[in-house]
Amino acid sequence: MKHVISAQHFDRSELLALLQKAQTMLQVKEMGGADTLRGKIMAALFFEPSTRTRLSFESAMMRLGGNVISTENAREFSSAIKGETLEDTIRVVSGYADVIVLRHHEIGAGARAAHVSSVPVLSAGDGAGEHPTQALLDLFTIHQEIGRVEDLTVTLIGDLLYGRTVHSLVYILSQFKGIRLICTAPAATSLPSDVLAYATARGVVVEQEPDLARALQSADVVYQTRVQKERFASSEEYEKNKAAYVIDQTAMTYLPPHAILMHPLPRAGEIAPVVDADPRAAYFRQSHYGVPVRMALLLRAFGQ
Ligand code: ASP
Repeated sequence: MKHVISAQHFDRSELLALLQKAQTMLQVKEMGGADTLRGKIMAALFFEPSTRTRLSFESAMMRLGGNVISTENAREFSSAIKGETLEDTIRVVSGYADVIVLRHHEIGAGARAAHVSSVPVLSAGDGAGEHPTQALLDLFTIHQEIGRVEDLTVTLIGDLLYGRTVHSLVYILSQFKGIRLICTAPAATSLPSDVLAYATARGVVVEQEPDLARALQSADVVYQTRVQKERFASSEEYEKNKAAYVIDQTAMTYLPPHAILMHPLPRAGEIAPVVDADPRAAYFRQSHYGVPVRMALLLRAFGQ
C-alpha cells in the first residue's frame, strides 16, 4: 500500500516524479478539477489542530471528484476520549474510507496506524516527529520558485528540534546533490542529532550560523519556523526561546534578490507582517501549493 509515513521513504526518482505529477495537478485544478477519484472516500482524522493540512487535503480530494469524511479535534471528539486505542480507531475507520489522512500528537502514530490499516494512511504530522506531506509541498515550492532542487543553500531558522516539517524537509533535501544547510537556532532548539546524521551521511553540508544576517546573505531559500510552544516541557523554556530570530524589513535587506522566504505557517511573530509585501515572501504561495501536491499524493495512494 502506498502509505506516506516518513519523508525518508521517498527516493530521488520518486520525488522527481511527484514534482511532475503535482505540476500536472496544478493545471487540472486551474481547469476546474477532475473526476478521477469519483466514488472514493477520504477520512481526515485529526487529533491535533490544523488549518492548512486538513483543508488542503479535503480540497485536493474534492478537486479530484472524491468525497470527504472528517473529524477535527479527534482527541476530544472521537472515542479516544473514552479510551479507544489509535489502532482500534484505525481498524474501524479503514472500513469507512478508502484512504486515511491522520494527524496525531505522538511520534510514530502514522507507522502504528499503517500497521493495522486496510487502506493507505497518509501522515499529516506525528507530534514532534515528521510532517512528510508538508515537506513534499515545500520541495514543490522550491522547484516552482527557484527552478531547481539541487545545488541549493537552504537556511533553516527557529525551532529545528521540535519542528516536524524541518525534519521531513531535511530528509527530502538529502536525496539531492549540492545541498548546503545553514542552521540558525538557539542551542535549546537545534536540529536533532539523528536528523543531522542522516543528512551528513548523504553528503549534505551542514553549518551552524547563529548570526541571522550572515545566515540570510548566502541563502537561496530561507525556511523560517514557529517555535513549537506545545512541545516544550514548561512555559519558561518556551519563553526563553520564542523570539530568538525574527525576520523583519531590516533582515530582508540581507536576503539576496533571487532568494525566497518560506514558512510552513502558522507564524507566531517570527516574520513581521510588513514582510508580506516583499515578492521574495513565498509563504502564502507555498500554502496554496498544498492542494496540487496533495492531489498528486492522493492519486498515488490509489495507484495512479
Ligand atoms: N503547521 C505545521 C505543523 O503542523 C507547522 C507548525 O505548526 O508550526 O507542523
